[in-house]
Amino acid sequence: MKKIMKRSTFIFLFGLFFIIGLSVFVFRLVTDWENWVQQPYNGHTAGSNGLVQAGKIFDRNGEVLAQTVDGERVYNDDQAVREAMLHVVGDDSLNISTAAQSIYRTKLTGYSFVWGLGMPTSLKKSNDITLTADAQACKAAYEAIGDRKGACVVYNYKTGEVICSVSTYSYDPQAPPEITEENEEQYDGVYLDHVLSSSYSPGSIFKIVTCACAIENIPDIYEREFYCEGEKEIDGSKITCVEAHGTMDFNEALAYSCNVTFAELAVELGGDKMTETAVEMGFNTSFRVDGNPTAKSNYNVANATKNQLAWSGVGQYTNLANPMQMAILCGAIANGGTTAQPYTVKNDLGILSEIGGILGQNTGAPGRLLKQDTANKLKDMMLYDVDSYYGSDLFYGLTVGAKTGTAEVQEGKEPNAWIVGFSADEEAPLAFAVVIENGGYGMAAASPVAIAAMEASVEALQK
Ligand SMILES: [Zn+2]
Repeated sequence: MKKIMKRSTFIFLFGLFFIIGLSVFVFRLVTDWENWVQQPYNGHTAGSNGLVQAGKIFDRNGEVLAQTVDGERVYNDDQAVREAMLHVVGDDSLNISTAAQSIYRTKLTGYSFVWGLGMPTSLKKSNDITLTADAQACKAAYEAIGDRKGACVVYNYKTGEVICSVSTYSYDPQAPPEITEENEEQYDGVYLDHVLSSSYSPGSIFKIVTCACAIENIPDIYEREFYCEGEKEIDGSKITCVEAHGTMDFNEALAYSCNVTFAELAVELGGDKMTETAVEMGFNTSFRVDGNPTAKSNYNVANATKNQLAWSGVGQYTNLANPMQMAILCGAIANGGTTAQPYTVKNDLGILSEIGGILGQNTGAPGRLLKQDTANKLKDMMLYDVDSYYGSDLFYGLTVGAKTGTAEVQEGKEPNAWIVGFSADEEAPLAFAVVIENGGYGMAAASPVAIAAMEASVEALQK
């Protein structure tokens, strides 16, 4: 009798665990199926199998970027467009995890929880996706970057549409390379979209943050006079400038990009206020673009010496900046302190609201990054920067405000070249960020890319 009792208890418990396990499995299957279906190990939709019946991907003006013809995935006719848009469109093999073809796999293939890939055509919605990005604007930026490694993004800060987004190195999705030991340098970091997923030493573009902190915390900042001898000892080691800038006011200090002035300001403002402003402006925060989290920009002076705090104010020390976050910040500066949330896939399929629903509607959306008054003052300073230092016709007649950066990296390597900014024109409300890794001087290396991308983006808006 005892033996039978023991056995039935065992069977009862076994059955109970089985039912609990099955319930958990069914629950997870129902709530998480889309995720599972999209995993690379799932042969149904991953690989070219799933793309056999996948929808088309169009750019903002209806140019076909990817389509399936006779069971083959075929990309745009122009190789430069294919390479320029690799990180936005994706490839057959889900190598670029943030690209449209990866994150909207189930939408493109029409995969359904109930029907799998075999949903009757009569029930199917269109599987096509239209992007906000423009093929020709991406191509222009890609060609301007050339064989260098970097990132370029242009978006509309009123609507959020990303018009141009390019990451290099790249490859042709129509003929993906086999990456071996011999060619791996040529494809270093190629599967990452550097616009979204990388952060770089910012150098002088960070002076925008120090500037904002000074505007908000030093009431007489615009009446002050600054002086630069070309170097200044702070806390036992020297802060240096490229030349002696002499006497200047606050506007000129930003236009000359005077390290000594911004180092002194960071020390005067202190780590707490600097951190508060940096965080408000989107540092140490991840934003979401089409549900993809951006790499965080970094500002952390918790353990900094006074000299390191000084260097942090000019964008060195451990500071990092993500190109998308810098573009978002410039959009907010141009737009009174707030900006529309950037996105690359048009809302046609209800994809954005679906993702918003899953993630919580406001997850990762930029809130207010600056007080309105601070934004307007910074905007004027960045406009002055371009107008006084580079001349007003630099951007083909657009009214552009910008800041360049030349960020020192490891010993023996060329600095990172940056330019970030915005157009203040009503008909072209565009913000941009360009970084060229080890590119040299920001003005020489990054500006031509920004100029090409902005010109083509304006044309894209007018099409
Ligand atoms: Zn100076």
